[in-house]
Amino acid sequence: MSKTLLKVTGLKKSFSIPAGMFEKKKLLKAVHDVSFMIPEGKTFSLVGESGCGKSTTGRLISRLIEPGEGEIWLEGEEISQKKEAQLKGMRKKVQMIFQDPYASLNPRMKVRDIVAEPLTIHTKLSRAERYKQVSEILEVVGLSDYHANRYAHEFSGGQRQRIGIARALIMKPKLIIADEPVSALDVSIQAQILNLLKELQAEFDLTYLFISHDLSVVEHISDHIGVMYLGTIVESGPKEVIFSNPQHPYTKALLSSIPIPDPKLRRERIILQGDLPSPVNPPAGCRFHTRCPVALDICKGTEPPVKQGETAGHFVSCHLVE
Ligand code: SF4
Repeated sequence: MSKTLLKVTGLKKSFSIPAGMFEKKKLLKAVHDVSFMIPEGKTFSLVGESGCGKSTTGRLISRLIEPGEGEIWLEGEEISQKKEAQLKGMRKKVQMIFQDPYASLNPRMKVRDIVAEPLTIHTKLSRAERYKQVSEILEVVGLSDYHANRYAHEFSGGQRQRIGIARALIMKPKLIIADEPVSALDVSIQAQILNLLKELQAEFDLTYLFISHDLSVVEHISDHIGVMYLGTIVESGPKEVIFSNPQHPYTKALLSSIPIPDPKLRRERIILQGDLPSPVNPPAGCRFHTRCPVALDICKGTEPPVKQGETAGHFVSCHLVE
């Protein structure tokens, strides 16, 4: 069995937000008691509606945001409370790919300098050495040295995401946190980028934390999936189990919305009522009870415990699950 690369336990984060003129500041509870682990070389995906806390979780793990409570273990080292000066080693091991390749690349820099930037910050390599590595990594992601002297606006969306991937790869990271890396791209380009990520994972033994609102995207790349709702993971398990035997009503609703590419087959769609409640004032008991089509009385006042499913590694938080 592979070694655990990342282990997150009881991660919490709240943000203080301004209230009305005569009101106290309010707390937005973005991430509430999130726990999961990723073995080396595997992909764990966080899925859920926008605003469920999945991107915040990724940013907490990459230490772009200061964690509130909980622990983050990277290769056996606890990093959640380390000061910036102590995070140098971790910054090389963890890299991010962002959602919007249009916004995440500096329009004033040439591709060569964008991709070389992490080397400039973290190494003492000469300019010639840095540029040599840039040429090599551009080849790896399907671009060439010819592209290095151009600006990001000269590229298509898919090519820009390849540049973003090259920048993440140049430090030879262990963990890549990919935050909605294909959601801004056309469907045909999405498939190319997902295939590229899978090839790179096999070649460089990369571990991915993949964040997406789209279960059909996640199906192609994940080994394990965590379904998030209002800051917490409500169901997690091996991909096959989540897709073939989902237990949580929210997971079932998400799966029912995936189109089937066969006009003769129909899937009964579960339409959730209402919007995602505010994380400033999340519902008591089960956070999903205000929209759950099968809620019980107990769900309004008692938070459901995490229960082990029939398959190893499958966990569900729901009063209905035996
Ligand atoms: Fe629905 Fe209750 Fe289960 Fe929550 S605990 S998902 S409200 S049945």
